Amino acid sequence: MHNKLPTAERLFRFGMVNSQCCALCSSHQETSSHLFFDCEVARALWELIEGSFIGIKSVLSFIGLYGGSTLGGGNFGSPALALCLNAVYSLWIARNNVVFENVSPHIESLFANTLALTVHYVENSNHTKYESKNSNNSTQVDVG
Ligand SMILES: [Zn+2]
Repeated sequence: MHNKLPTAERLFRFGMVNSQCCALCSSHQETSSHLFFDCEVARALWELIEGSFIGIKSVLSFIGLYGGSTLGGGNFGSPALALCLNAVYSLWIARNNVVFENVSPHIESLFANTLALTVHYVENSNHTKYESKNSNNSTQVDVG
């Protein structure tokens, strides 16, 4: 894995922060491999994803985005890969929320965010004719 992200461990090395503690668990050095895979928060997210894999498959096939192929075959690779990348992305966002917004990580919303990003990805890659859901942007301003 490329280690280019400004994790606490790297920032500490460059003298930019005083602590190299993981923002999510505050008990380990924040390297990218810790943050995304070894951290207790990351582990909890990966467990949820693993445990819900069957569920995700049926959700995707229910909304017509998953072609009914079996594990390891057909077009399953793409949503599964997207799911993993989105889990990593969600963890990075959660970490930044702790660092910059002082918002504690919430595993359920991390998981929900990962799923939402994945469904969005699959919708956009499989359904080119899919209409934008943002068409009802309200420009209404309550002036009182
Ligand atoms: Zn951690």
